[in-house]
Amino acid sequence: MSIQENLKKIQENIPNSTNLVAVSKTKPLEDLKAAYDAGQRDFGENKVQELQAKAPAMPKDVRWHMIGHMQRNKVKYIAPFVYLIHAVDSWKLAQEINKQAKKNNRTINCLIQFHIAEEESKFGFSFDEFIEEQKTNNFNSLDNVNFIGVMGMATYTDNQEQVRKEFKQLKNIFETLKLEYQFKNFSEISMGMSQDYQLAIEEGSTIVRVGSSIFGARNY
Ligand SMILES: *Cc1c(COP(=O)(O)O)cnc(C)c1O
Repeated sequence: MSIQENLKKIQENIPNSTNLVAVSKTKPLEDLKAAYDAGQRDFGENKVQELQAKAPAMPKDVRWHMIGHMQRNKVKYIAPFVYLIHAVDSWKLAQEINKQAKKNNRTINCLIQFHIAEEESKFGFSFDEFIEEQKTNNFNSLDNVNFIGVMGMATYTDNQEQVRKEFKQLKNIFETLKLEYQFKNFSEISMGMSQDYQLAIEEGSTIVRVGSSIFGARNY
């Protein structure tokens, strides 16, 4: 199926209130343009360099999502235009985003990444780690960063109950931070990818990040 048909099928499968981010990492500009022509405006990349290279070549109304782990020294390259940073996984990164946002006279919307999967390799806070950090460094004290929610990745497994449990856990973290830790601007839960976005939506996802189901498998 074409990119256009894939997008249409996915849009039909998700509620209007769920935002679809088309994850275009490793894909050529012509694929992004095909998605754009089919009406897609939210695009996600996981590497700063690639995002930086693609952004100027696409129309100005694209909303760029940085969905991957970020090194602090690269924040400055995307700070002028990035729409949403999904994976804030340390206080130091949050501070750097704040600094670069200030330089650009803007407020950058961000999500806090939580580690919900069983795999060791994935980035993000555990709930306890975050609460510990929040005691000394209040994430809400950064003037030019607006934390609007949480992001997480489930374990890569066929075990649906496992995945569902992890999504429930992220939803719980979202609720707890919003209600008990004064994250008043929380409205977004970024969870769900090609293989599990439907489950994620059932468990309360507001942003799904879908790559291969739109653009086809990636060759690395
Ligand atoms: C690559 C990636 C996705 C999309 O994965 P697919 O399985 O291709 O849909 C989603 N989120 C993050 C953080 C990614 O790195």
